[in-house]
Amino acid sequence: MAEREIPYKIYLEESELPTSWYNMRADMKNKPAPLLNPGTLQPMQASELEAVFCEELVKQELDNDHAEIAIPQEILDFYKMYRPSPLVRAYFLEKQLDTPAKIYYKFEGNNTSGSHKLNSAIAQAYYAKKQGLKGVTTETGAGQWGTALSMACSFFGLDCKVYMVKVSYEQKPFRREVMRTYGASVTPSPSETTQIGKKILAEHPGTTGSLGCAISEAVEVAVGTEGYRYVLGSVLNQVLLHQSVIGLETKAALDKYGIKPDMIIGCAGGGSNLGGLIAPFMGEKLRGEADYRIIAVEPASCPSFTRGRYAYDFCDTGMVCPLAKMYTLGCDFIPAPNHAGGLRYHGMSSTLSQLYADGFMEATSVKQTDVFEAAEQFARVEGILPAPESSHAIRVAIDEALKCKETGEAKTIVFGLTGTGYFDMVAYEKFHDGKMSDYIPTDEELEQSWAKLPKV
Ligand SMILES: *Cc1c(COP(=O)(O)O)cnc(C)c1O
Repeated sequence: MAEREIPYKIYLEESELPTSWYNMRADMKNKPAPLLNPGTLQPMQASELEAVFCEELVKQELDNDHAEIAIPQEILDFYKMYRPSPLVRAYFLEKQLDTPAKIYYKFEGNNTSGSHKLNSAIAQAYYAKKQGLKGVTTETGAGQWGTALSMACSFFGLDCKVYMVKVSYEQKPFRREVMRTYGASVTPSPSETTQIGKKILAEHPGTTGSLGCAISEAVEVAVGTEGYRYVLGSVLNQVLLHQSVIGLETKAALDKYGIKPDMIIGCAGGGSNLGGLIAPFMGEKLRGEADYRIIAVEPASCPSFTRGRYAYDFCDTGMVCPLAKMYTLGCDFIPAPNHAGGLRYHGMSSTLSQLYADGFMEATSVKQTDVFEAAEQFARVEGILPAPESSHAIRVAIDEALKCKETGEAKTIVFGLTGTGYFDMVAYEKFHDGKMSDYIPTDEELEQSWAKLPKV
């Protein structure tokens, strides 16, 4: 049968949008390791987690059994404002690469937050509102999560307190202003507003902060403020669950044209976009119905999968959060100051960590100058100015397409284009001026940070 003409963009009708999220854990034989109480080293109970997180989200966090979780109508209604996101056939990129490969990307940057983060932000804000809370606290690194959460909170009339890693706060003043436009308060972290912030500042004067440190501050404020809970934009099981809309839409669009991908590529920071993109495909793989190559791409400067240790570690620098078993660089690990984009978290989703340990997916790391080269190449032919994070996936998609050119194989490649890079022009400027460098941590540096791994 002749291949049907594939349009440049494959859209879904409103009636074809997913109405349930898909929970990969239900189909995993080896479930992700449970979160542990850092004091007792026992699995965290729902009641303990509810002091920090919203009740319904705790249920989702601990649910290893239900494959499908219905998306509440209010969330579906919000999704309709910016979903479905397009699945694009990268005809122009294919042509430029002169490759027989067929390349598709799922573009999540078509909303004001500029990334996929809104898919989970709106869900988390909804459950917080439903529980009758006054507000939520969170951290943000590059700023996309804080922006997404600010939008979601303003929609449901919740207060939103964002702790923003100081280096980003200073480098990306416009991100901060977008958050304030949506009514959030934004504090550079570490700050003097929390005990842990004061402690970190005393120990490391002049520090430009880290995600782990901002998390500690946000958790401290949530736990200490009546009517507040803490929300997190990546890493957690619940976030991967919400992000499964990306993969479900991708699969529905591909199925419309009978397309079976050979490989699925995504960038990995805490693992939420990748976990979402691959969800239904991984489900088929776990149930033995189909096989796909699944590739996580991370920065060589923050290589959790490719060089990390699979162990229980703290999720934050202040060591107040539960312990998670994950590929980790150690909770004190901070990427070198020349590291530009996001993807700077020391750990990785425990679900993806288990899948990686069990051989269901691959991982690779790339240098940031190579990433920006791919970003620019992509922007010039496909038009979209990609986020540096997303460009990690672009880099590997291009490399795989070039391999197809050598072998003459017409493989089908799908990658996640998680967002736009309009707020990352300082990094693009460095790249254009030849001032961007690559820093790869040494084995000694990693050993040093692993020395502080909790003894579990
Ligand atoms: C946050 C972010 C990422 C990385 O986070 P994950 O949880 O690993 O998906 C990637 N791309 C963009 C645009 C982001 O905002």
